[in-house]
Amino acid sequence: MLKNRRSCLNPFFEEFALKAILFTDLRNIRFLCGFTGTEGALLIAPGHAWFLCDSRYTVQAAEEVQGSEIRECGAVRIETIAALAEEYALDRIGFEAVHTTVSSFRSLSEKLNSSELIELGAKLDEIRIRKDNAEIILLSDVATLSSQSLAAILPGIKPGVREEEIALALEIEMRHRGADGRAFDFIVASGERGAMPHGVASNKIIQPGDLVTIDFGAVKDGYHSDETVTVACGKPGLQAQEIHSIVRSAHDLAIRAVRPGISCKDLDEVARGYIREKGYGDFFGHGLGHGVGLEIHEMPTLSPRSATLLDEGMVITIEPGIYIPGFGGVRIEDTVVVTGDGCTVLTSADKQLLVL
Ligand code: ZN
Ligand code: ZN
Repeated sequence: MLKNRRSCLNPFFEEFALKAILFTDLRNIRFLCGFTGTEGALLIAPGHAWFLCDSRYTVQAAEEVQGSEIRECGAVRIETIAALAEEYALDRIGFEAVHTTVSSFRSLSEKLNSSELIELGAKLDEIRIRKDNAEIILLSDVATLSSQSLAAILPGIKPGVREEEIALALEIEMRHRGADGRAFDFIVASGERGAMPHGVASNKIIQPGDLVTIDFGAVKDGYHSDETVTVACGKPGLQAQEIHSIVRSAHDLAIRAVRPGISCKDLDEVARGYIREKGYGDFFGHGLGHGVGLEIHEMPTLSPRSATLLDEGMVITIEPGIYIPGFGGVRIEDTVVVTGDGCTVLTSADKQLLVL
């Protein structure tokens, strides 16, 4: 029952002495009440909740929304929020500072003149940091679908093919297998383009001997998958083999180190330290990974600065890389769920250096 997820709001009610919290971010709304539409607001007080939408979404809301009274709003939603605040004496209302524009904040402050608005920062997005069983099943299913889609299109990755053809074939395969869409613009970076960690698929034609980094994922029922392989089209050179082997070992070491209680920065250092030891420390610029869920990038962040401790139920990526300007690059990424004593890997594409 989605209503159970709302206990994660109790610390906010207590710490800030709030009478209610207003959500407008659609991912948080989906997490807390189940609504999947593209506009709405959710006002949650201890013991009661109201879902607000306009007439376009009333039927959908009646089918989807759990544990909340549905209120259809007129043209100006804020007026309905103000009326509820008045009726239920909600004189201190927290809001998602990270997802509220300056102009929405101004209108809220103007209309809710008898309530104090309390800014709740990035901490509020951490309510989704630990996944429950229902979410882990969805994340596992979408990860499987996505990995299987890559396996199905692998034979089409060869010299003479454009990067964007690979991206398109992969997306079509995912849709055939039931995905709602791609999780992000796929990265297909071959040859020297592999030195760009975020080199989205271009019209470059793959050349014999190129390494090709493919970073891909699907979205299904709101949940995302995220995985990266680096394959070789034709026999790779010695340095390409060397950096692939280093990145793969860094990736394997980090996955083996995942467990509840380890800090995200210590985990990052497991992979980073290994890459540094092998002499490529200057060529791994980004963090080791990130949380995945209703957003492709969410909490926690795995970087040298993140003190967050991993906990059971967190779903994170492990994605070390080496990027050498003028040469190319390698990244290997899996998505894992933290378990009681380690982790389970959800993504399943082969991480060996496949020579296609
Ligand atoms: Zn990725
Ligand atoms: Zn990622």
